[in-house]
Amino acid sequence: MGIISTKYLLLDAQAKGYAVPAFNIHNAETIQAILEVCHEMRSPVILAGTPGTFKHIAFDEIYALCEAYSNTYDMPLALHLDHHESLADISRKVDAGVRSAMIDGSHFPFADNVKLVKSVVDFCHLHDCSVEAELGRLGGVEDDMDVDEESAFLTDPQEARRFVEQTGVDSLAVAIGTAHGLYTKRPKIDFQRLAEIREVVNIPLVLHGASDVPDEFVRRTIELGVCKVNVATELKIAFADAVKKWFADNPEGNDPRYYMRVGMDAMKEVVRSKITVCGSQNRLLLPAEV
Ligand SMILES: [Zn+2]
Repeated sequence: MGIISTKYLLLDAQAKGYAVPAFNIHNAETIQAILEVCHEMRSPVILAGTPGTFKHIAFDEIYALCEAYSNTYDMPLALHLDHHESLADISRKVDAGVRSAMIDGSHFPFADNVKLVKSVVDFCHLHDCSVEAELGRLGGVEDDMDVDEESAFLTDPQEARRFVEQTGVDSLAVAIGTAHGLYTKRPKIDFQRLAEIREVVNIPLVLHGASDVPDEFVRRTIELGVCKVNVATELKIAFADAVKKWFADNPEGNDPRYYMRVGMDAMKEVVRSKITVCGSQNRLLLPAEV
């Protein structure tokens, strides 16, 4: 087993009409909680780390953990660079073994975004590393990113077509009304826009900001071509709430083996429900297929 490209996972999802869940990880416990469920449900999975993740725990350490867990759980794993912003940072991690990267140039004008993404695609494709990019811009907060409502804008279908043609990117994150973090009001997803993008773009589409989005909305986006669903915030909240409750019930407690386990168990419930929404159970690809 080992660390694989996301490309094969997403193309299988696209062909069969489900989505691969991408969960953000932070440490051994969060990886373990995710993989315990994926192993049990036979679901493919993408483990995602932002640049902030690799400030908390060094890339080499996360990579070694993922390799080890891939053997423990007997599953190929995609370790994905989420919201990375430079070719230098991505190329260093690809040289160290990663095979799935997002280059986020969504804050740049179209031509600059194309130029940056193309340079990353040219490098990554020499190393069997799949590349995701974003066109349009999601609002909300994730790690060091904080995009206010005015700076957020939705993906234009015709621009998306040109963007994919000009960059050769493998998957495209679209802005259709979701946001990073929690929603202050019920999200308004522009399904019509997603359908129009799907008509002119044939690579797998990615939904960011899927925490806190009603299940039926996520399912509808998968029917309309989303093949990767990103979940971060909901996992953190489940973990933290369970640990807070444990300490409230056990004010003298101090053993991480106990309080981490209740956090992991709470997080596992969210992972289980997201896999069900994605329809990815029993879709695990064997090494010969990836
Ligand atoms: Zn995101």
